[in-house]
Amino acid sequence: MAQLIDGKAISQTIRGELTEEVARMKTAGITPKLAVVQVGEDPASTIYVRNKKRACEQIGIDYLTYNLAEETSEQELLDLINQLNRREDVHGILVQLPLPKQINEKDIILAISPDKDVDGFHPVNMGRLATGEDGFVSCTPAGVIELLKYSGVEIDGKSCTVVGRSNNVGKPAALLMLRENATVTICHSHTKDLKEKCKTADILICAIGKPKFINHEYIKKGAVVIDIGIHRLEGKKLCGDVDREDVMDLVSMITPVPGGVGPMTVTMLMANCVKAAKRLTGYKG
Ligand code: NAP
Repeated sequence: MAQLIDGKAISQTIRGELTEEVARMKTAGITPKLAVVQVGEDPASTIYVRNKKRACEQIGIDYLTYNLAEETSEQELLDLINQLNRREDVHGILVQLPLPKQINEKDIILAISPDKDVDGFHPVNMGRLATGEDGFVSCTPAGVIELLKYSGVEIDGKSCTVVGRSNNVGKPAALLMLRENATVTICHSHTKDLKEKCKTADILICAIGKPKFINHEYIKKGAVVIDIGIHRLEGKKLCGDVDREDVMDLVSMITPVPGGVGPMTVTMLMANCVKAAKRLTGYKG
């Protein structure tokens, strides 16, 4: 029977480690500080922002929150980002997406200092990931690597297929697996023979955005499956991109939805905040 990868437990372990790290930083006079900016009142964004604030409180990270009106102009948001970029006491800047239509998300991502880009969305950080330099990695794919490592999955030399090539999820996941010395195949909506390409994978990472798309026909026996997708079905039940019941007899390990990749995203944001504070202050600890 397949083993479920417990993202909640792994996330709590990492949060415990971060809490200890932040306590040590505080004794050296450094408190990591995250600035969280929300524009408008999108209900989902409000929940995400609340979860981020709670995680900061749990770990001991200071935070500032900015709730800007829906009609905020791009220039007003850029002015705030520039101000936060200059503040020495702010180590991480997060602008909750999506933004209202009068604001160009790319302009905003570019305006955030790459050294405070705790979401890892800035092209400089994507470039650092692609060239193997140290930088900030998008939180969800960074969480995938931690899930694999904490579960004792060997990545080096394994064949990995990533389905999905979005800038924030699929592409960085593939680059991270490459950095860990997997042999990586990236698939997308134009891929021919998707089933065959998935069936070669020792580690299959699904970031497609289609509920229960991946079934037993895509799985090699014994594969480790990471399901990044998250969908709310009728009746409010959550599911992933993988039809878990259908693949359970074939896989060796799989992340459940909910409780797999999801809990890791905010935790990796916290890890990025701690890292940003260390880099910006020169703390070696
Ligand atoms: P996205 O931007 O919509 O990208 C989806 C990717 O899947 C695209 O690259 C697309 O190919 C590919 N794709 C779509 N249909 C396909 C098909 N039939 N065959 C092969 N590839 C196909 O989505 P995303 O932002 O990467 O997110 C993916 C999923 O992860 C979503 O369910 C999202 O909700 C979830 N997610 C979860 C978390 C979390 O914390 N758990 C965080 C972020 C995202 P093309 O590039 O050719 O269009």
